[in-house]
Amino acid sequence: MKLIKQFDIILLLLWCILSFNFIENINSGPISSLSSCLSSIEGPVIYPNDTLFPSLIIDQNIRVNYTPTVLVYAIDNKDVQKAVKCAVELKRDIVPRSGGHSYEKYGLGGRDNVIVLDLTFVNGITINSETETAKIGAGNRLGNVYNQLNQAGFLIPAGLCPSVGIGGHALGGGFGYYSRKYGLACDNIISMEMVNAKGEILQVDSILNSDLYIALRGAGGGSYGIVTYFVFRIHRTPPQVTYMELAFNRANMTQVYQLFDTFNEVGPLLDDGIALKMRLNKSSLSITGLYLGPCAEAQNAMKEFLSKAPEPISIPKFIPQTFYESVETLSKSPNKYEVVNPVHHPNFFKAKSFVVKGKGLTRQAIKVLVDFLNGASCKILASFDLFGGAANVYDSSSSFIHRDALYCIQMESDWETKEQNTKCTDEINEFGRNFQLNFTSDESYQDFIDRDLDDWQTRYYGNIFGKLVKIKRKYDPNNLFNFPQSIPVQV
Ligand SMILES: Cc1cc2nc3c(=O)[nH]c(=O)nc-3n(C[C@H](O)[C@H](O)[C@H](O)COP(=O)(O)OP(=O)(O)OC[C@H]3O[C@@H](n4cnc5c(N)ncnc54)[C@H](O)[C@@H]3O)c2cc1C
Repeated sequence: MKLIKQFDIILLLLWCILSFNFIENINSGPISSLSSCLSSIEGPVIYPNDTLFPSLIIDQNIRVNYTPTVLVYAIDNKDVQKAVKCAVELKRDIVPRSGGHSYEKYGLGGRDNVIVLDLTFVNGITINSETETAKIGAGNRLGNVYNQLNQAGFLIPAGLCPSVGIGGHALGGGFGYYSRKYGLACDNIISMEMVNAKGEILQVDSILNSDLYIALRGAGGGSYGIVTYFVFRIHRTPPQVTYMELAFNRANMTQVYQLFDTFNEVGPLLDDGIALKMRLNKSSLSITGLYLGPCAEAQNAMKEFLSKAPEPISIPKFIPQTFYESVETLSKSPNKYEVVNPVHHPNFFKAKSFVVKGKGLTRQAIKVLVDFLNGASCKILASFDLFGGAANVYDSSSSFIHRDALYCIQMESDWETKEQNTKCTDEINEFGRNFQLNFTSDESYQDFIDRDLDDWQTRYYGNIFGKLVKIKRKYDPNNLFNFPQSIPVQV
């Protein structure tokens, strides 16, 4: 008896020390009330004093990082509801995170001391082959989504970085190699389940909460509530696809111009089954492509493009593949395992995006871009995703406004050490500001989110921004769900 009592006292002391630790580690509000409120959550709830915590807040971009108060790993809608109710009750900020790939770390709120509601374990995938739909948990990563859908003979059109979360990706648009054929990921969302600011589950589709349906499909990341499930329209995978690779002479400016002219003029005329991504940096100029059909058809569909393009510096590659082989190739994963079990590859980077319309970049713009790449002190890559086809079909039930794009440029600066942060960020920011002012449309792509962008409201959402604000006011009047570039309650 005496022994048990001594043991009880030791336990009590231990508990006191641990609780004190919690209080010390959290710098806003009493953590004891938070931890007791979150105690009925079924999934793991991880505080900063946990040894695992630092590794759980590191993802792709290490240029910026923030420290949340707690990471709540929900396993189902109920956990999400409980966490939202705790946040409201204790007047704390709560932020959803799916894949943690936001360029500005908005999956951690873009600031310290928020509750992060992580959806990693909300990862069910149920496929209905008859209706050609799939219910997909928001915490799934793209690699796993492609893998599982492919096993049933289906795909969804989305990007191809396997560790990107379907949640943030699809809610911001989601462009990839299949978008010219099937639209963006957001275009293929039929319905969603969302936990709102009262902790209620809302069914969202073109009839139920139809205004929210519009807002979430393109402007949904982090602003309106926590989406837990999507139902996507899925598409049958083609029996064979063709992976394409073309390399050009970067040193010869006449040939650089010629390739841009071809991309500008022939690009929009290409079969919707063809996707092209052109890449330009200081030393190389190349195109990676995919055709959703057999090799002979791909060569035929690319004939006019190749006849107008400059002579490639190596024999163009047209490689027949199965659909899933192309996922593996285009994902650029170091191995097959990582496609399905994605890991982050952290590095320092800053990205800008420019939507190019009309006849494309002029010669003057190309020269300015090339001169910048030649002289930049940090490593910069410009990628040009050819839009058109289904990606450009205007849809009044979507908030993705960039429907008349010829291509979207992503410009990314990468560097090695923290000490280069300011120099490399300032360099690309300054170039981006002037380049957009002089040579591209004023639109930018919200999935390539950029905290340094001025007037992001119109660049991301154009003239529907006011409508998005009204919808925000209706569903989240107290602005529970917010981050530095979220849809506000007031204009
Ligand atoms: C290596 C890499 C490759 C990429 N390739 C492409 C590409 O090919 N095509 C393309 O279009 N984009 C691409 N992106 C951009 C990517 O689509 C966005 O960064 C996207 O927002 C990431 O989603 P996430 O869930 O991984 O990120 P997170 O950081 O988890 O979330 C991003 C934002 O969405 C919010 N959010 C996340 N989940 C939910 C949810 N369930 N409910 C409500 N809000 C939520 C977060 O709060 C945050 O504001 C790429 C990004 C990287 C880093």
